[in-house]
Amino acid sequence: MNQIVTRFAPSPTGYLHIGGARTALFNWLYARRTSVTKQGKFLLRIEDTDRARHNEEAVNAILDGLSWLGIDWDGDPISQFSRSERHVAVAHQLLDAGHAYRCWLAGEQLAAAKKQARDNQTRFESPWRDHMGKTPNEPYVIRLKAPQSGEIVVSDLVQDDVRFSSVSLDDMVLLRSDCTPTYMLAVVVDDHDMAISHIIRGDDHLINAARQQQLYKALGWPTPAFAHIPLIHGADGAKLSKRHGDLGVDAYRDLGYLPEALSNYLLRLGWSHGDDEIIPLLQAKQWFDLKGIGKAPSRLDTDKLDSVNVHYMRQLGDDAFIELSMPFIKQDAPNISKPQTEQLLRATTFLKQRAKNLAEVPSAAAFILISRPFELSGKTSKPIRRDGATEILREAHELLAAVSDWTEDKLEKLLQSIADEKGVSFGQIGQPLRAALTAGNPAPSLGQTLFVLGKIEALARLGDQIS
Ligand code: GLU
Repeated sequence: MNQIVTRFAPSPTGYLHIGGARTALFNWLYARRTSVTKQGKFLLRIEDTDRARHNEEAVNAILDGLSWLGIDWDGDPISQFSRSERHVAVAHQLLDAGHAYRCWLAGEQLAAAKKQARDNQTRFESPWRDHMGKTPNEPYVIRLKAPQSGEIVVSDLVQDDVRFSSVSLDDMVLLRSDCTPTYMLAVVVDDHDMAISHIIRGDDHLINAARQQQLYKALGWPTPAFAHIPLIHGADGAKLSKRHGDLGVDAYRDLGYLPEALSNYLLRLGWSHGDDEIIPLLQAKQWFDLKGIGKAPSRLDTDKLDSVNVHYMRQLGDDAFIELSMPFIKQDAPNISKPQTEQLLRATTFLKQRAKNLAEVPSAAAFILISRPFELSGKTSKPIRRDGATEILREAHELLAAVSDWTEDKLEKLLQSIADEKGVSFGQIGQPLRAALTAGNPAPSLGQTLFVLGKIEALARLGDQIS
């Protein structure tokens, strides 16, 4: 088999849209599969022909999004705009070979001819297609001389054979009157010159594949294999919009999702391997194939993304977890201290249980991040206002101050012994302690809370409520 060469060809819109990220991921995986002996290539092409909207930053945003997801590419990204001369040359090559023609139909005349074809449900025909003789000295477009009858069959690796009647595929413009190439011409020439073997992209491009196939044929070039992936829909089945979470990859990063989770989720969005849900990229490289791509549109499901994210968050080592959470924590607590960082590190098991993404870590860590002395009010102050509560806090403070082995287990036992000695339930001593230590914020078991806070902070918090 020839070498597999795939590509991702985004227009530089300023962000890597999640649909695009999935397309990139599928192309990348197909080239990076380890199940084949000959390694493939994954190329990037920036479709930057719209100069009015083009800027370097918009391109970088896409490259950053890919890198963040762990997708690398071979060689430098190719600028489509920089290849315009080649596109123009190919249009003229088609002209010379009689597979294309100059067309002067423009403005109102063109609109009227198109309308007439639509109204009569016939193929739009340019009067210049078979024109012989004198031609105007005016700007013209170059159109492909496409077949007027029969059908074009796109043998798609996902959609199977898809048929298009030639009547619906009129003679498309290849070169505009200002000599700029159209998308259709540029894509075919670039894919050919880049030796792309497989074009994997959204099925909104399926009709383009039919037109592109006509062009490959006219040029006498081999047509690459096509695999058109059903688009992503919202949870309600409707076309994706911002309301559904139709966002850039950067927005998911800002929402606190891990790149491993987002790529795993995007992979499963339209591709399956049995019932497997957790498929890290390393595993995906072994398993990925085009047969696993589904034919129905997939639906965005944030609950699923959350559960995949929780999985990858729990896999992180403590240091990495806190380091990745830090930008989010700092939004709430910009001046986080070293002892607080150590407390966070001791609290990772609890934090990983409570947060579905990194953005939720600060609220899960509120019991650590509150700065003392804090005032307890309303419901939160109730446990320390009860009869005997101050007594309990005082006694606990004294006993805890004498503890040298500050471990969860030891602390839990000590609290139990205070309860036993007083002949009260664990809750009776636990509630005022918990209020004084956490200000009513969610926190782990009492022993663990004391351990996480550390001796100095825990005693200080208790002290604040009895002084
Ligand atoms: N630039 C096109 C897009 O962003 C992709 C073209 C292609 O994959 O052929 O939709």
